Amino acid sequence: MIIFGTRARTLKPKENKSYDCDYCNTKGSVTFSFIARYFHIFWIPIFPTSKKGISQCSHCKKVLYENEMSPRMKQDYADAAASAKRPITHYFGLFVIGLLLGFIIYGIVTNSMNETKYLAEPKVNDVYRIEKNGSYTLYKVSEVKGDTLVFQPHTMVAEKYMKLSELQKKFKNDYSNETIKFTKAQINSMKESSKSDFGKIYSIERE
Ligand SMILES: [Zn+2]
Repeated sequence: MIIFGTRARTLKPKENKSYDCDYCNTKGSVTFSFIARYFHIFWIPIFPTSKKGISQCSHCKKVLYENEMSPRMKQDYADAAASAKRPITHYFGLFVIGLLLGFIIYGIVTNSMNETKYLAEPKVNDVYRIEKNGSYTLYKVSEVKGDTLVFQPHTMVAEKYMKLSELQKKFKNDYSNETIKFTKAQINSMKESSKSDFGKIYSIERE
């Protein structure tokens, strides 16, 4: 089964001039057509590839490529090619990829704006994702005292960053009663540098 490759579609120019055929001498039987190819995966168009034009005689079926056309036909060729437009569906994959990138960038920007806000105005129950000594854990804000934040660390650590979501969902009440305190200056250093002695803040989440 062919799951990807290129497929072709025949396009006609908007205004198709006709020419006389040099082979069968039929008057006005030769017109342009264009073969537009696109790359597909499972028959879904992803992006356009080549577009090549030919002329064909409707009577004797003789096909000519651009380099074989008469000087008069060659003159009209570029105009005809420009007016034989691909359907926009040939760009479908590019459109979807663009949309996904847009969402990802939007997510990253919104996230970073939110984190800046959460750092500036911390609230009780904000959850900080922390890396310390090569493993990951969560710190939950239990108190805000002026320039000092009091955290309850999670009782569990994760080997992988991805596992933190599981701690947040399945073990969301398993925070230690032994608190740790950080000043805002310390928090900022944890946000900026992975070399901070206190660990590194990967993200801040608020429900
Ligand atoms: Zn002909």
